[in-house]
Amino acid sequence: MKSQRLKLTAFMLAAVIFSGCSQSGSSAGSNSADAEPESVSIFAMDTYMTITVYNGDKSAALSAAQQRVQLLEGLWSVTEEDSEVYRINHSGGEAVEVSDETAELIDFALDMNEQTGGALDITLYPVLCEWGFTAGEYKVPSEEAISELLKKTGRDKVKLEGKAVTVSEGTSIDLGAVGKGETGDRIIGELKANGVSSALLDLGGNIQLLGSKPDGSDWKIGLKSPFDTSDNIAKLELSDCCVITSGGYERYFTDDEGNIYWHILDPKTGFPAKSGVISATVIGKSGRLCDALSTSLFVMGEEKAKALWQSRDDFDFVLITDDDRLIMTEGLEGRLTLYEGYSNMKIETVKK
Ligand code: ADP
Ligand code: MG
Repeated sequence: MKSQRLKLTAFMLAAVIFSGCSQSGSSAGSNSADAEPESVSIFAMDTYMTITVYNGDKSAALSAAQQRVQLLEGLWSVTEEDSEVYRINHSGGEAVEVSDETAELIDFALDMNEQTGGALDITLYPVLCEWGFTAGEYKVPSEEAISELLKKTGRDKVKLEGKAVTVSEGTSIDLGAVGKGETGDRIIGELKANGVSSALLDLGGNIQLLGSKPDGSDWKIGLKSPFDTSDNIAKLELSDCCVITSGGYERYFTDDEGNIYWHILDPKTGFPAKSGVISATVIGKSGRLCDALSTSLFVMGEEKAKALWQSRDDFDFVLITDDDRLIMTEGLEGRLTLYEGYSNMKIETVKK
């Protein structure tokens, strides 16, 4: 068991490093004749983050961004005892006064819970712990344990009044599904304040693009294959937007019978979401919206994802299903190219 875990860790690390290299190889490093890019890599929020800036006051921008990341991690860490999320989770049912940043993000996440029919739920932390996804000590819990824990989850267990957050006793929140997207938005704010208009953020596979490449062309972003994570299934050519993916392949374990359990849970069952969607990528202007939706669409499955898209106009998506289909929305037409080796995939374009 232990050696299997070690192997998995090594594999995940390799995947992260590979994705970092392929990003800079395919997009960040090229055609920057008049701009010497500068970049910084940080390990924060349980992931590797690389920020590359192409113009403006690069050093000042990168150090402001780095400080911002550290500040936000200090607020939202579930394990650091002086974080605001930790204080909320250990308040014994009392109200906790939090910063503007935390109050805004919780408010947003609660709103998204409503908009996604409950697919995004920040109160799943105790259930994620029971599965071992937080500590890496994976196990399949009993149905009884899960249904007991589910009694403490749900939108109604969290109250936000101004900047005062109260969670019911026994309830814990985790902003993991939205925090990285919000962090990206705030990094971009810092970069803009320092005169940057061209930058690429890779926050553990969450890509956020500021402007276009320095030569004015689109960035080329690889869409990882959920079938073989060392490979890209398609390329997307985009500027000034976020490309955020939730995939079952990102964190998972396998039991003795070969069943796969991943880290995105269906809040209704407390079990890994099995919607037929194995990778959900959301493209849009707001990082936190794309982050929230990538997790949500993974849980909701293709029909509900399409219906949600039809009802709004602030995002596009690419879904990959377990029966080899790629479903994309019409805003991506002409921007997505399948790589050789994946040309057998059926592409379906959803239109308004
Ligand atoms: P990642 O952070 O791995 O890139 P996501 O943005 O999809 O991927 O976030 C997944 C994380 O969110 C999980 O690791 C877990 O902490 C938490 N989570 C899992 N299922 C849900 C859910 N249905 N709603 C909200 N958060 C979830
Ligand atoms: Mg997410």
